[in-house]
Amino acid sequence: MRLENKVAIVSGAASGMGAATARRFAKEGAKVVIADMLEAEGKAVAAEITAAGGVAMFLALNVTEEASWKSVVDATVAAYGKLDIMVNNAGISGSAVNDLLETGIWDRVMAVNSTGVFLGTKFAVEQMQKNGGGSIVNLSSISGVVGQTMVHMSYNASKGAVRTLTKATAVQFGKDNIRANSVHPGLMPPMRTSGATADPVVRAKMLKAVPLGRNGEVDEVANAILFLASDEASYVTGAELYVDGGYLAM
Ligand code: NAD
Repeated sequence: MRLENKVAIVSGAASGMGAATARRFAKEGAKVVIADMLEAEGKAVAAEITAAGGVAMFLALNVTEEASWKSVVDATVAAYGKLDIMVNNAGISGSAVNDLLETGIWDRVMAVNSTGVFLGTKFAVEQMQKNGGGSIVNLSSISGVVGQTMVHMSYNASKGAVRTLTKATAVQFGKDNIRANSVHPGLMPPMRTSGATADPVVRAKMLKAVPLGRNGEVDEVANAILFLASDEASYVTGAELYVDGGYLAM
């Protein structure tokens, strides 16, 4: 198994790509912490993994709060002994807003999508330095590389911050055998928090810009995260992996 003896935290694992990643990690032998604000949904994902013979638990997490991160990482190490993999996946969308210049949306999106990833990185690095290394995978987006219409600019800016924060992490903590890489999903199926991208007219327009001519599936993103998290990617750090059907190649 590709993650045998590994301990992983996946933020935002109560739904969407985070849940798919948690399920995939558990199948590959990892002990997985489902860390999210959504308690009932997060517990259901953990129970499903456990019922299938995997090892998982739910821990409540608000990625914007430092104390919340500390308690999740401490509880993970208390239960499973160490931390090898951090997937900073929790995020909110800035699409389908009425006012694309609203300051309140900027503050909320930056707090979750950028500060949340910084805090997850901070507590992961502190723990991984004690372990002798680890792998951090951060969820950016195609929106972290290019600008878009119909999306509050905070979403692009927050995902752009994730992209370069990841490279800074790779550069600063490579000496500790800590790798950091970003994953950039493109058009996905309409999800819980999808805004404009759930609109069929918008989706049809976006699909025209995807060379593979279809949206991605959550398992296709989970597979990319799995590779970067695993030892198969032992010489890969500071990289950005596009899982976008070729959108950014156009
Ligand atoms: P989702 O809404 O299905 O899942 C996001 C999870 O994050 C939810 O379970 C939510 O409860 C959790 N979350 C939100 N705020 C949180 C907070 N403050 N603290 C803890 N948990 C919090 O989303 P998804 O579509 O699976 O997206 C996962 C990641 O991929 C996000 O970072 C998103 O921005 C990014 N992404 C999504 C798409 C897409 O089309 N869906 C495309 C590119 C990138």
